[in-house]
Order: sequence, then C-alpha cells, then structure tokens
Amino acid sequence: MSRELPILVVGAGLGGAAAALGLARKGFAVRLIEEASELGVIGYGIQLGPNVFPMFRELGIEKEVLANSHFPPNVMMLDAQTAETISEMPTGAGFVERFHDPYVAIHRVDLHRCLLDACKKLPNIEIMTSTAFARVEDLGDHVRMTTTDGRVIEGLALIGSDGLGSAVRRQFVGEEKPVPIGYVAHRTIVPMDKAPERVRRKEVILWAGDGFHIVQYPLRQESLFNIVAVFRTENIYERADEDTYRSVLMKTYANAHPIMHDMLRMMDLKRRWVIADREPIRHWSHGRVTLLGDAAHATLQSFAQGACMAIEDSVVLARCIELSKGDFAAAFQRYEKERVLRTARIVLESRSLWQFYHVGGVARDVRNDIESRKTPKDMYDCVAWIYDGVKLPESL
Ligand SMILES: Cc1cc2nc3c(=O)[nH]c(=O)nc-3n(C[C@H](O)[C@H](O)[C@H](O)COP(=O)(O)OP(=O)(O)OC[C@H]3O[C@@H](n4cnc5c(N)ncnc54)[C@H](O)[C@@H]3O)c2cc1C
Repeated sequence: MSRELPILVVGAGLGGAAAALGLARKGFAVRLIEEASELGVIGYGIQLGPNVFPMFRELGIEKEVLANSHFPPNVMMLDAQTAETISEMPTGAGFVERFHDPYVAIHRVDLHRCLLDACKKLPNIEIMTSTAFARVEDLGDHVRMTTTDGRVIEGLALIGSDGLGSAVRRQFVGEEKPVPIGYVAHRTIVPMDKAPERVRRKEVILWAGDGFHIVQYPLRQESLFNIVAVFRTENIYERADEDTYRSVLMKTYANAHPIMHDMLRMMDLKRRWVIADREPIRHWSHGRVTLLGDAAHATLQSFAQGACMAIEDSVVLARCIELSKGDFAAAFQRYEKERVLRTARIVLESRSLWQFYHVGGVARDVRNDIESRKTPKDMYDCVAWIYDGVKLPESL
C-alpha cells in the first residue's frame, strides 16, 4: 500500500515549502499541509547567507531568488549612542570570492513565492491549506495523521516543519516550551521614499544598544525599507494598544541616536513578536516522523540564520530520503546526525552573540574595541563555519 502514499510535510513555511520542493524534485509524492488558509502572505525582510545558495541550486530556484534579492555592500554594526561604526563586514566582490555566493536581503514573501511557485509547477505536490496537525501514529509501514478537526490523512512518513510552537514536536519531545529571553520585536516595512534621507542606506545595519537594537536594510530594488526594533522588556507577553507600545519604545530608546528615532517614528506597532529559542536536543526523529527548521532547533536571530538552517535541513533531508530507498527511519537518523551539531552550535552561539550585541557600560567599550580591530578577513574567519556551508551526504 505504502508505495502510493505521499510523504506528509506539516507546515508550509520556508522550511516546509523547501522540503516539499526538494522531495518532489526527486520524484516523491508529497502532501504539503498548512493550518493557515493562505500561504506565504505574512512577511518582512530576511537576510540570507551564502551557505543557503547551494541549497537554492539544488531546489532549482537560485535564479528567481537572486532576481528578487538586494545585495548590500556591507553588513555593519553601529553604536546606538554615537552612530560610530563598530564593525564592518564587506559583502561585495571580496566576500563572493571568499564564499562563492552572495549575502542578500529579500522580502520573505518573495522568497516564499519562489518556493511555492516552484512547488505548484510539480504535479506530485498536493497543497492542503486550512488543515492543522493534531497528532500522528506510526503504523510501522506508514503513518496516520489526525487533524484538529478530526480528518485522517495517511502518508509514508511525516516531516514536522510547523515552526517554533510545533505540535509535532510536542507529541514526541514533550511539553517543553520555547525559551523566551526577555526581548520583543516590532517589524515594519515602509516605502523608501517615506524614509528620511539620512536613514536610507544600502547596507544591512545593526544599531547595537544597551538592551536594545535596530536592524535596517532595503528590499525590492531599494523601493522598500525594512526595520526591526528589538528590546528588553519586563512585560514580554503584554498585549497593548499602539500608544502604549509607542511610549514603551520611546522610554527604552531614550538615549538612542537621533537616526534611530527617525526609524522608530516609522514603526508599525500593531504587532509584537516575543523573541525565543529552544534548548538544543540530540534527537528529533522518531521512526517515520522527523522535524526540521524552527520545530527542531529554533534559534535567536543573532546570525540571521534560522530560515537558512531550515532550508539546509530540507535539502539534506531530501537527499537522505533519496539515499535510503524507502527506509525512512534510517534516512531520518542520518539526517539528524548530519544536522544536530551545526544547528545546536547556531542556537548556542546565537545566545552568546545576543549578549554581546546588547551590553552596556564598560562591556560596551570592550566590545567596540574588539570589533573595531577586526579586518574583513577576521570577520570572514568568524563566520566561515556557517558560510562555508554543508556537504550533502553521498551515502547513508
Ligand atoms: C524578527 C525575526 C527576524 C528573523 N530574521 C531572519 C533572517 O534574517 N534570516 C534567517 O535565515 N532567519 C531569520 N529569522 C528566522 C526565520 O524566520 C525562521 O527560522 C524560519 O522562518 C523558520 O522556518 P520554518 O519553516 O521552520 O517555520 P515557520 O516559518 O514558522 O513556518 C511554520 C509553518 O507551520 C504552520 N503551522 C504551525 N502549526 C501548524 C499545525 N499544527 N498544522 C499545520 N501547519 C502548522 C505555520 O502556519 C507556518 O506556516 C527571523 C525571525 C524573526 C522572528
């Protein structure tokens, strides 16, 4: 029976869409299952390191992604009080020569569309929206998933790509919750011509302050301007109106540089994200069920690598399934082994980097001193373990 069943991919975010595409390109039938009624409608900017481009080549969407990308000349850290440059990683020709692929910023909606358009062109992917995973049973030669409204969907195996609050993970790993770190984020995209002249920069810039930061960069041929404001607060779960959020923001960023205030004035404060990650775990595969992306190893945004890791996972996983010739449990064990150290290191080093970004007092002076001494080569060496990317397995 199992030959005719599809592989079930639960969650059609960036990781799930990439997994569905990777598997379908290898000839597997896939059912991509999403609880939302529409796919890919929410999004802000996202940065992508060069490590993800070989994955896009595997997925056949590199050209489309590049066509939608912004190519910043530098990734910079500026001091939130003085606007002085703390560090600068050139991301032009020298960067591409070193890492063989570019560093880009892209609208998440555009990246999602590249993945979903490619999925829609393949006859062996069925997309089901308004369908929420509730639980799954491993029946030995296939799996049976039940939805929250009681429907039953059978498949060869199930991949949980259902994000930070993963229900698939909960069933296998238990009730442990994401770990909030006391910070929240507001995200905004505004038309570039609405942004004051002095904030318009082509670079990806992180303004580092004591307990807060802002990230800025352009998108879509510099027609849009993306701003993320992140700060420490005692009330991470507070849900308030925009005026209340604005007064919190003004208090938090009181000593920030006037250019940061230009950006804060443009913030859309309707929605707030609680910043959280997950404790790294050694095992996230159980028989014919596995996890990927944030469901497996959610990380803080310090390296801007969460989505990149989800996409790397997807391509490695598709390769392991192809190599396994139908032994899903073996494929999932191999995939997990291939991914666990790299993704756990991202999670753990992101936590230290987060502290480093947000220090005050003398620690800030020390940080600025250390960073400002780094040459471009030093900067590249620091991130080479990420940007040099991964080798795809050649055998199980
Ligand atoms: C402020 C911020 C900035 C970031 N910047 C970057 C960056 O610059 N670069 C980068 O690489 N990463 C970045 N990230 C991280 C990145 O967004 C995530 O790591 C990435 O989106 C994870 O993808 P995913 O597919 O695993 O999960 P998600 O994108 O969360 O997708 C999960 C999907 O599963 C669906 N779902 C959930 N539950 C169910 C269910 N029960 N049944 C069916 N479907 C379900 C959801 O609706 C969703 O569509 C950032 C994150 C934040 C918060």
